[in-house]
Amino acid sequence: MSEDGGKTLDGLARIPSVERLMSSAPFESLIAVHGRIQTIATLRRVLDQCREAAQSTPTSLAQTSYEFFAAQTSALLDADARLRLRPVFNLTGTVLHTNLGRALLPDSAVQAVVDALSRPVNLEFDLDTGARGDRDDLVVPVLRELTGAQAATVVNNNAAAVLLMLAALAPGKEVVVSRGELVEIGGAFRIPDIMSRAGARLREVGTTNRTHLRDYAEAIGPRTALLMKVHASNYAIEGFTHEVELGALARFGREHSLPVAVDLGSGSLVDLAHYGLPKEATVRQTLEAGADLVAFSADKLLGGPQAGLIVGRKDLIAKIKKHPLKRALRVGKLTLAALEPVLQLYRAPEFLRERLTTLRLLTRPTTEMQAAAERLLPVFERAIGPTYTVRVEPMLSQIGSGALPVDLLPSAGLVARRADGKAGERVLLRLEDALRALPRPVIGRIADHALRLDLRCLETADEAVFAAQLASLRL
Ligand SMILES: *Cc1c(COP(=O)(O)O)cnc(C)c1O
Repeated sequence: MSEDGGKTLDGLARIPSVERLMSSAPFESLIAVHGRIQTIATLRRVLDQCREAAQSTPTSLAQTSYEFFAAQTSALLDADARLRLRPVFNLTGTVLHTNLGRALLPDSAVQAVVDALSRPVNLEFDLDTGARGDRDDLVVPVLRELTGAQAATVVNNNAAAVLLMLAALAPGKEVVVSRGELVEIGGAFRIPDIMSRAGARLREVGTTNRTHLRDYAEAIGPRTALLMKVHASNYAIEGFTHEVELGALARFGREHSLPVAVDLGSGSLVDLAHYGLPKEATVRQTLEAGADLVAFSADKLLGGPQAGLIVGRKDLIAKIKKHPLKRALRVGKLTLAALEPVLQLYRAPEFLRERLTTLRLLTRPTTEMQAAAERLLPVFERAIGPTYTVRVEPMLSQIGSGALPVDLLPSAGLVARRADGKAGERVLLRLEDALRALPRPVIGRIADHALRLDLRCLETADEAVFAAQLASLRL
């Protein structure tokens, strides 16, 4: 055996036994936090790693103290115990970012969720009569008030709402949809797929850019169950285009006793133009234009928790609620706890901009982001060092989640570029990685050879946390 091999054996021999380590003082405190089973399993991993290291580089086993093994074990235990779902800073410029959890809830909703988490609630219990209740009824009155609908129901998300609507109203039958509305919404939501999963048959009419009422007229027959319109969401058709207005389609539907359903996607409850945002038909306007049913998301423009809402005609909603899929797609108490206070906020539209987080972020004046960027510039510059140059620059935010995709919101933020002026992006990717590795990861966006941090979604209250953790940036 070589001299090195001798050292390795010496080193290995110096490692205390698992039993002695586990009964030592530093390990007792680890056991108190993580429990004996996890601690011993993790210690074994540490010992295996040490033995392996000692085999390849004999001198690497310099440390064999109890404290050394406890520190190694503790670090691994902490890493494993760290939650995978964590708060991040969304500086992507996309306010309703699907991958970052879409809408942020206002405090009243957060408090209601906290209450519902640890106490019994009247989820399906009628407090007036003491009889069994219906969980939908918790939000039906406010939804009726806000949309003018006769009835409403709530499911897990808008994809579920559309699936359920089709499964309940058109099983084995045809649903007529314009080719220009056969969209894919990202994350594999495609109208044709949902249609076949729901057991309905898609009857496409018109062309991608133009569909006329006569196209619908030629398509309907005894097998037709439903006419459906789908909001194009993340996609804009421009130029030589024609779609049949909802009002005209609804009149046509009534003449032929065919209900008209609308997948509104984002589904706003207020006229966004009042708040200086691009115009979008509200749910109420969609019903007033003649839709029999409207399905929309609760966590897009509405600013609530993930859910899908279906509002409209009482008889159709009743049919939907009776379908077995409704039970499978229903929401839990936490969703309803969050949804109700969010809907309540819409009853006082004059305070909405201030109280509804999503609307507050979407309507933030550019001067606020500009001022924040100027405040943070020196701290950021110092943290990332001379490899980069940083500037405050105007930028454009997006609403996100397919809402109004062509309308961008003027914003401002920090832009980092390579100081050497070279084009390669590796240096930028390194900065992006380092920001993502911070205790509260910072998610920006690389475009045009620059890393961009849009400060629209960094509210003033969070600025200090953002700035303070930059000291631990490791590039
Ligand atoms: C976003 C969207 C959906 C899917 O809604 P989720 O709530 O994400 O399930 C369906 N249809 C349209 C038109 C959309 O914009």
